[in-house]
Amino acid sequence: MSRPGGRAASAPLLGHEIEPTIFELSVPGRHAFQLRTTQVPARALSEYIPSEHLRTASVALAEVSERDLVGHFTRLSHRQFSVDLGAYPLGSCTMKYNPKFCDAVAADPGLNSVHPGVPASLCQGWLELLVTLEAKLCAVTGMAAATLQPAAGAAGEISGLLLMRAYHRANGDVRRRILIPDSAHGTNPASVTLGGYEVTTIPSNARGLVDLAALKASLGPDVAGIMLTNPNTLGLFEEEIVEIAAAVHEVGGLLYYDGANLNAILGVVRPGDMGFDIVHMNLHKTFATPHGGGGPGAGPVAVSTRLREFLPGPRAACRDDGTYYWSTPEHSIGRVHGWHGNAMVLARALAYIDVHGGDGLERVAQYAVLNANWLRERLRATLPAAYDRVCMHECVLTATGLKNEFGVRGLDVAKGLLEEGFHSPTVYFPLIVDEALMFEPTETESLQTLESLAESIERIAQRAKFDPDGLRHAPQTTPVSRVDEARAARHLMATEDAAGRS
Ligand SMILES: *Cc1c(COP(=O)(O)O)cnc(C)c1O
Repeated sequence: MSRPGGRAASAPLLGHEIEPTIFELSVPGRHAFQLRTTQVPARALSEYIPSEHLRTASVALAEVSERDLVGHFTRLSHRQFSVDLGAYPLGSCTMKYNPKFCDAVAADPGLNSVHPGVPASLCQGWLELLVTLEAKLCAVTGMAAATLQPAAGAAGEISGLLLMRAYHRANGDVRRRILIPDSAHGTNPASVTLGGYEVTTIPSNARGLVDLAALKASLGPDVAGIMLTNPNTLGLFEEEIVEIAAAVHEVGGLLYYDGANLNAILGVVRPGDMGFDIVHMNLHKTFATPHGGGGPGAGPVAVSTRLREFLPGPRAACRDDGTYYWSTPEHSIGRVHGWHGNAMVLARALAYIDVHGGDGLERVAQYAVLNANWLRERLRATLPAAYDRVCMHECVLTATGLKNEFGVRGLDVAKGLLEEGFHSPTVYFPLIVDEALMFEPTETESLQTLESLAESIERIAQRAKFDPDGLRHAPQTTPVSRVDEARAARHLMATEDAAGRS
């Protein structure tokens, strides 16, 4: 089939050419490979499935050769932007380059061909890996024990809240409220509601930090705990964390640390030392699992000694004789995953921690913080920081100036960056910053990359002066140009398959 312009479907795509759907490439009778007919006598399918459930017509699948199939998906894959292609400064998401070494470890058949249901005696190596990873994550966070089961950050949050609930219940305590700062990641209040608690929002002060006086005024015997990210979602370190911890503990509450972006503090400070009782980590952000597009991820939750007996089970544990077994804590909240967690993500994380050895993890944090501060300083005159302070792993800049002067918004800057060959930053988050652009360059980008990112942003700011309209319609040079995001959500269109069924 030919595309607009008459070029053959197998030629590489140019500019804005649209890749046909796999159904448009379909030619009746064409197929990939077929298995030879088998010598084993066929048994009628109806012996297994009642005949009324058996399909009578064939499935409307695309009929394509293997060549067409591979060409189609390879061409589509080249129209993506990925962490392997270039800088992806999407704040709060830690879209850093992940070392291929960790993938190689996870690809080891000795690890990935083991069924999670085999008895412990037949997978001692896997249990050792899990015990070792748990110990290393506890060492990094300053906690006593951890569950590796939660499948992602938000899954870690709900697990952590269930742990909080179990702890209070064991003390005969009914508590209703969880405090959350107004700058928090959206998953935090969502998890609180899902966990059966009410959210009390704590305002930020003029420096972008938790307002300690407001926090103290909100505390009471019905407060189950507080959820905090430190550095917070403005990329700023909560300097009064020790006072905050003392105040929350004084009313019998617990402190939950949202450690999604642990690359900000690895090897430098530990949540356990700051007074936190529960920490979740996003292994798919900080510890070398590529993410985006829906996973898989892993969100282990580490806890202080007093919460250990409530952890989900089973957990891998080691006997005195050095053998490993599954054990479930006495007052466990139960399983939070069908098996033992997303095991290959766990394997990658241990590989990443081990390969960094010595002071390697500390340097991860140092580079992450250095890169974000370099960018913040360099862009001072172009896009000022919302809170002009030294930041941690990310910086929140504001496009208010461009909006007031030229009518160009943060979204337009973000879209313009796509034409420059960079992924966009996070926009309009945290909600408390006007025209927020949240850049997280991550530790894996070089000075040269940061320089060209900054030059691109400066070029866009110039363009805001002489071509604001063009910028409002950017991007135009990418496979998909500016989309109307609101319309996409409001006018859902069901698609049809080749047979015309929707
Ligand atoms: C990414 C993120 C989360 C959620 O993690 P998921 O794995 O996407 O569920 C929670 N909190 C913060 C601060 C994050 O950056």
